[in-house]
Amino acid sequence: MAASSQVRPPVVTILGHVDHGKTSLLDRIRHADVAAGEVGGITQKIGAYQIEHQGKKITFIDTPGHAAFSAMRARGGKAADVAVLVVAADDSVMPQTRESIEHIKNADIPFVVALNKVDLPGANPEKIKTDLASSGVYVEGFGGNVPIVPLSAKTGAGIDNLLEVILLLAELEELKDNSADSPARALVIESSLHPQKGPLATLLVKQGTFNKNDNLFDGRENVGKIRSMVDFSGISLEHASPSTPIQVIGLNQVLNVGDIISSSVGQTASSSVVGVSTADIQIDKPNIILKADVRGSLEAITDSIRDYVNILSSSVGQVTETDVQNASAGRAEIIGFNARIPATVVRLAEIEKVKFVNFSIIYQLFDYLKELKEKAAEVQAAKPVETGQAKVIKVFTLPNMVVYGCICLSGKIRQGESANGSTVSSLKIGREDVEEVKKDQEFGVVFTSRVDFKPSDIITFQSP
Ligand code: GDP
Repeated sequence: MAASSQVRPPVVTILGHVDHGKTSLLDRIRHADVAAGEVGGITQKIGAYQIEHQGKKITFIDTPGHAAFSAMRARGGKAADVAVLVVAADDSVMPQTRESIEHIKNADIPFVVALNKVDLPGANPEKIKTDLASSGVYVEGFGGNVPIVPLSAKTGAGIDNLLEVILLLAELEELKDNSADSPARALVIESSLHPQKGPLATLLVKQGTFNKNDNLFDGRENVGKIRSMVDFSGISLEHASPSTPIQVIGLNQVLNVGDIISSSVGQTASSSVVGVSTADIQIDKPNIILKADVRGSLEAITDSIRDYVNILSSSVGQVTETDVQNASAGRAEIIGFNARIPATVVRLAEIEKVKFVNFSIIYQLFDYLKELKEKAAEVQAAKPVETGQAKVIKVFTLPNMVVYGCICLSGKIRQGESANGSTVSSLKIGREDVEEVKKDQEFGVVFTSRVDFKPSDIITFQSP
């Protein structure tokens, strides 16, 4: 039974570009360290598994598209404690790598770079490190402190090192389950309808302990009870503690991925995240939370607006405080279709600066979202672009200015560009004023206002 402040295993998610080896890595880890006795018990794959390394447990989330990860993030929560960013050493930083970096940074969790496929002759770790630096990820020995582990999911080389680093990052996070006395809560990471067993769900226990025969609630609604639960290897459990993935039988409805389920009534949000669509959050689309009066209109609307917006959640009923909190965390507007909003929630929305727009005519709702999408795309296009990066070598504090002696790491840096909210007022190579500096050049830079960089800081310059 979980005692107060007992350490819980880290939950790890693996992200990265397609074909860089996420599946291979998950398979390799699963088979390398699953306790021998359990292997025979595996009856079917569920969306997460646990291994033991050096006597310590680690939970890996293994769901397609990481729907739960995105859904949880949209709610300002964390599905995972540690992320592994897989980059193939024979390729480079690709669009989905950058997207993954964005996800990780938004989730604000520690991560390690798994430099995969080092067995290939074309592997070029130095190139990957440079690529990563230009995407804002500075690995150890390359201007930063993000751990990087060269490995091969194919041969198994380096896997132990990766697991060690994961445990180390987790240790620094001091993951505790402080909630032995509060109701158990779990995140839905998979959901399906089984022809014989009925609705099935894979839950990841977030806090407390679930016991066999516990009733389960989604907000105030009873969604069934735990008639039986099994772990990832098919073994029946009586109790499930934090960070344990479980498959539950006994539900009376198909749950939504991303929902928080509790063993006690009224402890969780009642809004539900729509299926896997949240895995595809795109930065040039606006985020919305959709509320409608009846299920029929909700479904019709969601199907027609997916192209315009990221739907973080959609549900039937009046707008709740949870909707507002989720909108605030996910930087979303709340869009209603004949939805009611109580006065207390209106006040919360004002405080949280969350916009709520309600429609009763469907095409007006569509027009509004199209406009919102266009605006979001314009804002995205107008964002300043990164032009170059430099590393600070030395700081010279003079009576009326601070000169930063730097080396240009990538791109170009010009007069008038900005960094950290300030602007470049002077660029010099040696004693000479210059208009721009290029990669590998050493230079001195002065800013229009105070910036406080220190030696070995990396400065990212942006177009004005
Ligand atoms: P995912 O799309 O990121 O899940 O990538 P996969 O795990 O499906 O891997 C993509 C391809 O790369 C497959 O053909 C794998 O066999 C191959 N692959 C994965 N890891 C390695 C590795 O470490 N070395 C080599 N040589 N091939 C690998």
